[in-house]
Amino acid sequence: MNGPSPAGGPGSPGSIDALIALLARLPGLGPRSARRAVLHLLKRRESLMVPLTRALDEAARNVKACSICRNIDTRDPCHICTDPKRDKSLICVVEDVGDLWAMDRVVGFKGTYHVLGGTLSALDGVGPEDLSIGPLVARANTPEVREVILATSATVDGQTTAHYINERLSGAQVQVSALAHGVPVGGELDYLDEGTLFAALKARKPL
Ligand SMILES: [Zn+2]
Repeated sequence: MNGPSPAGGPGSPGSIDALIALLARLPGLGPRSARRAVLHLLKRRESLMVPLTRALDEAARNVKACSICRNIDTRDPCHICTDPKRDKSLICVVEDVGDLWAMDRVVGFKGTYHVLGGTLSALDGVGPEDLSIGPLVARANTPEVREVILATSATVDGQTTAHYINERLSGAQVQVSALAHGVPVGGELDYLDEGTLFAALKARKPL
């Protein structure tokens, strides 16, 4: 009675399988949650699936990296770099855009950012030229910049990266500081609550 289904699971046609397989690759979702998400989407085709498809398509076409800070936005330079209320003398250096979002939730931080795009890692073969370090050094050497806050994570790679950047900035006329270690070892900024981040930012130390 049941014919073989061409692309896998019993009763689930190929395109649904493909959708489940794609969603299962998202962080925090496994195959089981992906199947639930797909069923949910299909039940709310007009109210959720169609708008989501449109939003994904728009984001895929329009979101780009800011040519100044490497933040992602639909415009370049990004809304942070062009905000006249931001203190351009202050650059907070983070590993990824997720860390920027976390830092930006910190009440009172009115400076700008620089997104490195990762950390130095001997193990993964990530060198300085793979990160946005050269552009950061160039920014730090402009007269309006007074302080560079290194907000890399407390992991070995994060701290190695901070030390490397500190050395590269030794010729620039800027104060280099780092987040105080209210930040737990091995912790990533993105997972910290606002209070912890705020304390780490307020108590930052000169390097
Ligand atoms: Zn920017």
